[in-house]
Order: sequence, then structure tokens, then C-alpha cells
Amino acid sequence: MRYCLGVDVGGTKILGAVVDEEGTIVSKTRVPTDRSEGLDALPEAIDLFLAEADKPIEAIGLAVAAFVENHSGRITFGTNLAFSNPDIGADIAREYGHPVVVENDANAAAWGENRFGAGKGARHMLMLTVGTGIGGGVISHGRLYRGSRGYAGEFGHIPVAVEGPPCNCGSRGCLETLASGRALARMAQERGAGHPESEVMRLADGNIEAVTGALVGKAADVRDPFALELLWELGTWLGVGLTGLANSFDPEVIVVGGGVLEEGEAVLGAAREEMNERFRGRVAPPRVVSASLGNDAGVVGVAQLSLDAVDGLEGSEMGHGR
Ligand SMILES: [Zn+2]
Repeated sequence: MRYCLGVDVGGTKILGAVVDEEGTIVSKTRVPTDRSEGLDALPEAIDLFLAEADKPIEAIGLAVAAFVENHSGRITFGTNLAFSNPDIGADIAREYGHPVVVENDANAAAWGENRFGAGKGARHMLMLTVGTGIGGGVISHGRLYRGSRGYAGEFGHIPVAVEGPPCNCGSRGCLETLASGRALARMAQERGAGHPESEVMRLADGNIEAVTGALVGKAADVRDPFALELLWELGTWLGVGLTGLANSFDPEVIVVGGGVLEEGEAVLGAAREEMNERFRGRVAPPRVVSASLGNDAGVVGVAQLSLDAVDGLEGSEMGHGR
């Protein structure tokens, strides 16, 4: 059996997993971190992951919440994380003597779901990760499609509302401003005062500032009508975005994952209904399914990408530093 290390660097944690060539996680460790640290905490975390796994690895894959340049693997822009060293991939490669692949985290998750998860076997697949923000990935002809520079699949920043809320990216009315965890919190805060009896407001002790997306999810678990209404609206916006994507790419399947999808059908049900409405009288819209690898999709996907790089597979057109 062959092994590689997948590392997913997020805003609050670094998740590391040693993964075998069949996508099975052999060992997994989570190291808490904070935004300001960015990637500085990475070498120490990698030492820990390798010590705990005790397997001979062939390559390392780094999934990061950032724009990653094609071929060079340079990190060029991170919206939510400090990236003090854009060439961290090349540095890690030198330090550990293994090939290193750096990939956008949603692209990595898409590859993981396509190889081993809910999109297994699909030659044409889209993935959306709906968490605090929205990320995306494109599988075309069985390969990860990265675009001319490596920045393809940023579905969160497709504009869907001309006069919509301002977005972190500098634009406004992006899908992310209407269908993400952050959007859910904002909608709940804007309207909470009109629903003083709701479970959402009860959980927040009547303090509108304390309302979060996660709290809305908790209220939805006990069928709070206000929470369900918010999730339905979020799902409807998601359906608007998915309709545009389905018309652009004609995928076999769209896989949707991320924290907000813990509310599963409340969101996806609305999204499917919106798509059906907008596809009516033409052809059937593509299937929309929940991701199956959960938080592991990124580490599993990027580990596999690193192994592909060792094998010289252009399959993924990945960025890698050696
Ligand atoms: Zn945006």
C-alpha cells in the first residue's frame, strides 16, 4: 500500500491525515490555530502528523483556503487567512524531501468527493462547499479543471443580485452574500426583532448580536418556523446559483457540502425546487446530492492529488513545488 499526507489549513485548525492510495484515512490529527498565525504553524503540525501516523509517505498535499497559482503552487490571495509565505509548498518540499502539491481547499474537496465520495465515477461534476463562505470545484472529463491561472471554481463570487449585500471580495450581491453561513447569520440578525418568540431568539437570549448561522441550524433541528424560513430562503438563493452553474457546465451531478449542509434537506430541498422551477419545460436539471466525506474531503482529495503528482499524472493539472 502507498501512503501520502493530506493537510487542510483552515481559519481555526490545521487538519492532517495520512491517507492510502484507496482514499482510506490511516490516521487523523487536528491542531488548533488562529488566523493571524496563518501557515507559520504548519511545519510543527506536519512533524506531529507524520509522527502519529508512523507510515512511509511518498508525498504531501496542502489544501488552503486561498487562490493557488497553476503549476507553481504559489499562494496568491487568501480572503480569510494570513499567508505570510506564498512559497510555503516549495519550502515544505525542500524540508521534507517529498513532492508537495498545493491546492485550493474547495478544489481539493471536489477531487476527494469525485474519487471517493458522493460524486464517485462522475466524469462531469461540480462541488460547492457552503460554510462561512462558499467555495467550489469543477471536474471536467474526469479531471480537476483549474482554469488559465488556477482560479476556476470560485462559485461563491458569482454575482446573483444586482443590488445585493457587499462581499469580502470587493464586489456585491455575490452568491456567498446570500447563500452562506455568514449570509444566514446576517439574515437572522436583520429579521430577528420581528420574531421575538422564535427559537432562534430564545437560544440567543433575545440578544440579536448573539445570533449565528450555527444557532439558526440548532433552532431548525426543533422545527422552529423562523429558522426553517431562513434556511429555505438560503436554499432558494443556492438554487439560483446552481441553475446558472448547471446551465454553464451541464454536469452529471452537483455535490454540495460544508457546515451549512448539516441542515441538509432544509437547504437542498429548497435549492432543488428552485432549479426545477427554472428548468421547467426544458430538460431535467442535474442531480444535486449531499457530500459524503464531510470535513475529510479536503485532506483525502489533496493527498490523492499529491500521489497523482508522484505518478506524473497530468490528470489534475495541479500546482506543485518540488
Ligand atoms: Zn464576492
